[in-house]
Amino acid sequence: MSDYTCDALIIGSGQAGNPLAKALAEAGRTVILVEEAQLGGSCLNYGCVPTKTLLASATRAHEVRTADTLGIRPSGEFAVDMPAVIARKDALLAKSRQSLRDSLAPEHQNITVLHGHAAFTGPKQVQVQETKTRASIIVAKQVFINTGTRAAVPEVPGLAETGFLTTTELLDVQEVPAHLIILGGGYIGLEYGQMYRRFGSQVTIIDTGEQVLEREDDDVCQALQEALEQEGIEFILQAKAQSVARTAGGQYSLALATQQGTRHVHGSHLLVATGRQPNTDQLGLETTGIKTDEKGYIQVNSQLETNVKGVFALGDVHGGPQFTHLSYDDFRVVRDYLLHQGPRRSAKQRPLPYCVFTDPALGRIGLSETQAKDQKIDYRVSKIPVRIISRAQQTGESAGFWKVLVGPDDRILGAAIVGPEAGEIMTMLQIAMAGRLRYQQLQNMVIAHPVWAEGLNVVWRELAKK
Ligand SMILES: Cc1cc2nc3c(=O)[nH]c(=O)nc-3n(C[C@H](O)[C@H](O)[C@H](O)COP(=O)(O)OP(=O)(O)OC[C@H]3O[C@@H](n4cnc5c(N)ncnc54)[C@H](O)[C@@H]3O)c2cc1C
Repeated sequence: MSDYTCDALIIGSGQAGNPLAKALAEAGRTVILVEEAQLGGSCLNYGCVPTKTLLASATRAHEVRTADTLGIRPSGEFAVDMPAVIARKDALLAKSRQSLRDSLAPEHQNITVLHGHAAFTGPKQVQVQETKTRASIIVAKQVFINTGTRAAVPEVPGLAETGFLTTTELLDVQEVPAHLIILGGGYIGLEYGQMYRRFGSQVTIIDTGEQVLEREDDDVCQALQEALEQEGIEFILQAKAQSVARTAGGQYSLALATQQGTRHVHGSHLLVATGRQPNTDQLGLETTGIKTDEKGYIQVNSQLETNVKGVFALGDVHGGPQFTHLSYDDFRVVRDYLLHQGPRRSAKQRPLPYCVFTDPALGRIGLSETQAKDQKIDYRVSKIPVRIISRAQQTGESAGFWKVLVGPDDRILGAAIVGPEAGEIMTMLQIAMAGRLRYQQLQNMVIAHPVWAEGLNVVWRELAKK
């Protein structure tokens, strides 16, 4: 006997699940949305929103600290009030959660929100543990898995016993760490590293790779690493944590195997940012026959349907690049497949824009130079230093470069923008790519002076010389 039946059961209130619940409800379907933690998933609660909110405070601290480079001398005592920084973040999250809660139910009468852990007991049947003693069984015509990921913790002797921090836990630490050690030089490690450096921590970033952000072109990785080093962040690369211990005084002590032999690093806080793992291990998938890959990510087709008809997986849980905008686009793929007539969207062929919110920031779209070389794609490249852009000279933000690749047909293949407003400039190039514009069509555009985008004039001019 089931406690609930519905047309659509959505497991996980992530970036795809919430809009999908609303779209299906508006189409007249009965929807149950199950969430075991806070509504809004990782983006809202422990991903993009809190990190970028804290980053804004760290950026302001940096601006105050470096104000004299622009002739401003702040008077009075300068301090980072960490409890106030965190309270500002928490207030924003509380407001956003409330508005999400209101927008789901009761606004949509077809949506029921249940809180508890969901696990399959059959292909279209799920048990929800609402309290310790109360569990409900839901039978649904269609099921949508949007359960996301959690921090993956490497197996390092001693690590589990030390009480290390994940990216989620560090968001609530009320003091500025004296010395923050970060295991992992991916984009999350870099963003946290610069953020806490700017709050006033000593920061050491450790990674097994030869360089940070391993998937990017070498010049991109070097530019970001150099900029962070100039702010005083220490990088220890090609280093593998061999053991972790905690001293009686609470200090973390890491033994690292490096190219130069064993090295010891000590710090007051330890952040583990070495990747993510899918939330599929507690989902009862074995009762469904749903296929996963060797890491536990759910396998889907281009419409995001699993091998079990009527069961879909959306967002980070099906593997591939993990970004909020991709999860949201997964919602569009499934919505159009189920509710709209006309051409189907595909989750397999779509642009992949992304940003790293360091300073200088990175905005990426399309092919990197390394990918173009590896795939033997014919390309020309225009690369200009940010310092020659008029705007950079006025603001004093001169670090970074813009690199744009075009193909033999003069259309843009990809770009790496390192510098201020990197995401905005990258998005302009993304729009040009979507419109399949040749660079000559952009070359003689009248661009307002002195906006950052004026740099594009220089990019095209350099390209025309090649
Ligand atoms: C520190 C950090 C910073 C990030 N910054 C950015 C950024 O700047 N830009 C960007 O695009 N992306 C960023 N991301 C990635 C982004 O947050 C995710 O890609 C995005 O939220 C997609 O999530 P999702 O829709 O797959 O599911 P999620 O948002 O992860 O939601 C999954 C939900 O499912 C729930 N759940 C899991 N299992 C069950 C179960 N069995 N029963 C019930 N509920 C369950 C979870 O509690 C969670 O609420 C960041 C991530 C992190 C960790």
